[in-house]
Amino acid sequence: MTARLLIYLLLVVGLTGAPALGADDFGLAVVLLGTGTPNATPDRQGPAVAIIGGGKAYIIDAGTGIVRQAEAARRRHGLEALAPGNLDTAFLTHLHSDHTLGLADLALTPWVLEREKPLSLFGPPGTKKLGDHLIKAYEDDIRIRIDGSQPQNSTGWQIDGREISPGLIFQDDRVSVKAVRACHGEITDSYAFIFRTAARRIVISGDTTYCSAVVEAAKGADILVHELYSDAGFEALSGRWAAYHKSHHTSATDLARLVNQARPGYLVLYHQLSWGGVPEERSLEEITAQTDIPVFYGRDLDLYSAGQLPAGNE
Ligand SMILES: [Zn+2]
Ligand SMILES: [Zn+2]
Repeated sequence: MTARLLIYLLLVVGLTGAPALGADDFGLAVVLLGTGTPNATPDRQGPAVAIIGGGKAYIIDAGTGIVRQAEAARRRHGLEALAPGNLDTAFLTHLHSDHTLGLADLALTPWVLEREKPLSLFGPPGTKKLGDHLIKAYEDDIRIRIDGSQPQNSTGWQIDGREISPGLIFQDDRVSVKAVRACHGEITDSYAFIFRTAARRIVISGDTTYCSAVVEAAKGADILVHELYSDAGFEALSGRWAAYHKSHHTSATDLARLVNQARPGYLVLYHQLSWGGVPEERSLEEITAQTDIPVFYGRDLDLYSAGQLPAGNE
């Protein structure tokens, strides 16, 4: 490091209390764009996260509100990678609608805001059909914008859907992405993703019940971002809903077991389910009482950097 750069970094850290979040400062980080579920929670948008690797954003899932959430995170954290025009690469864990309702937003809003590249969309079988049909549904709008008086490029509206199977699904000069089959009930094409740089690794569970493949994926990870439901909340359920959630999602107790086996650097909770008015703190305590791995109760727009333990909320 040059003396000049060192002085610059010292100045920035001194002025803001935290390092500037430029491209080179990140090995790998995750921003929670939406931590919600199908439930219409006003303070939690639909499930979506952004991995920031080498200054570029890679989007995972496209819940409701995704582009506005990305813009909110850009402003909060100073991450230009999350500007609408830079959102051009996305991955779907599975095709449940809570994870895809924002896909038209992700494809078309950045285009209207002058993104020229098509949206590259990696996801399970059915992804290409979903993208093609969405574009079909919006074809009148797309044509009017291109052919009308609005200054509008004729390329950025496209969705380039590519269907994945377990294994390495993406690689560029910043990150590699591996898909691991998760355990989401009858939905056999549901994936967890491993994002890796030379030195760092972040694992996103997607929707899954306790899953040995996710345990293996999370071994040695700097951060595991994992869904869960509250043990106490589950007591409020009965019948088919109880059976459904048990076979599709992960209880707090099972998640504690999972992190005790995998021992990631730390755990970030997202896609939190609870029922019966059980408070957030209770879900967090259900895990922290059963593990010594640091646990953070994720909220929309949170930023977590691999290799750095965040302050608070544990
Ligand atoms: Zn979901
Ligand atoms: Zn799901």
